[in-house]
Amino acid sequence: MDEELNHIENLAVFCASSDGNDQLIFDTAYEVGEKMAKNNLRLIYGGSKLGLMGQVAKGIMDHGGKATGVIPDFLKTKEVVHTGLDKLITTQDMHERKLTMNDLSDAFLALPGGFGTFEELFEIVTWAQLGLHRKPIGLLNTNGFYDDLINMLDKMTAKALLKKDNLDILLVSDNFEDLLAKMKNFQPKPVPKWMNKNQT
Ligand code: AMP
Repeated sequence: MDEELNHIENLAVFCASSDGNDQLIFDTAYEVGEKMAKNNLRLIYGGSKLGLMGQVAKGIMDHGGKATGVIPDFLKTKEVVHTGLDKLITTQDMHERKLTMNDLSDAFLALPGGFGTFEELFEIVTWAQLGLHRKPIGLLNTNGFYDDLINMLDKMTAKALLKKDNLDILLVSDNFEDLLAKMKNFQPKPVPKWMNKNQT
């Protein structure tokens, strides 16, 4: 087997705090947790028992895996917080939460979600683009959920508003194992962020 470029032990997962109405997306969230347990990956996530977040956590805990929840104090009500995790870190606010999740994680994975998921995903991609970290970032395109976003990113690249090398930071697959393999073999390019119209 080829040597892996990136050792991934702690995987941050960003995903919806709602269940949604797509059964495949809902079931896949649980399966991601199950597969993470089988791959000895610790889940680093927002610490909620709600929605797809709760499904990933359930999938991993049901299969003997490990999960660290990182939750801001104001969200830590008993309706929200997952009490069955082996580690729970309380932060003062959302900013501290994101920094903590970043520090604890070797890689990042986004499943389908809403504004919160997009905000977390694009912040971490932007930090990579600026060279603030070199950790792999994956987008799991379950049931074509992210097709429109991928088209939008292609349009941004076609309009020379997003550099191709930066587009390539975001690894995409509709299959968890395939995406994990891509993340393990991700090699970031040392590219400058700023573009000018002479660049392709
Ligand atoms: P959204 O995609 O808008 O549902 O937001 C989900 C993302 O935002 C997750 O990855 C969390 O880190 C964070 N988040 C949003 N709502 C909650 C919640 N009730 N409890 C914990 N984290 C949340």
